Amino acid sequence: MDHGVPHLHLISIVQINFNQDFVISGGGLPGTQYKVAQLHYHFGSTYGQGSEHALDGRHYEAEMHLVTYDTQYPSFAEAVKHKDGLAVFGGMIEVGLFDNALYEDFLSDVEDIEYKGDSSDFSLPCCLVDLLPKDFGDFYRYRGSLTTPHCNEVVIWTVWRTPVRLSAGQLGVFRSLYHTDENAVTEEPLANNYRPLQPVNGRDIQYNGEHNYRWVLDFEHSLLPPPPIDD
Ligand SMILES: [Zn+2]
Repeated sequence: MDHGVPHLHLISIVQINFNQDFVISGGGLPGTQYKVAQLHYHFGSTYGQGSEHALDGRHYEAEMHLVTYDTQYPSFAEAVKHKDGLAVFGGMIEVGLFDNALYEDFLSDVEDIEYKGDSSDFSLPCCLVDLLPKDFGDFYRYRGSLTTPHCNEVVIWTVWRTPVRLSAGQLGVFRSLYHTDENAVTEEPLANNYRPLQPVNGRDIQYNGEHNYRWVLDFEHSLLPPPPIDD
């Protein structure tokens, strides 16, 4: 399981930018508090591909990335220059038999952004936590690097093991999006917007299956007291 770079590379994605303050703390992360900058999705055109991470050798149909930065820095742009400035959370998505009711509002918003450059006001924050995997305690963690010089190891990755399930029809909403704009002569699907698996390069990947960290996800308030020390 590996990844390395948080999409500062040029790849088309479904991206939600947040204009409210959502913060995450705890979870054994080194910083006190991380502010959510954006959420985006990678997905495949067919089964068994789409996720950027592979867990136990398995690729999933899609993977969400919740990108956050350490609030000791005033902005995302500043945080990205610092070691441990970013924390990115990965969640796997697999196909299931039933519609996931928690994704319904979100996916109807996604349908409004069919083409490149389209945007929509998403019905957040009500559903942000609904979009994430349900078991925050079971995760892999490793440090990733940016490919640009001078800023190695700026990302702390947390990859949740418990996938979110969507029906085939719901995955189809992602698969029916286009990389091209509305007036393009040839429509190019956005699907397969994932990077191939990257080599581990001797990185230390930790697995926390003990649920021994306390997480605090506050998607309603911008200010939180620091969480207790988590060891
Ligand atoms: Zn990503």
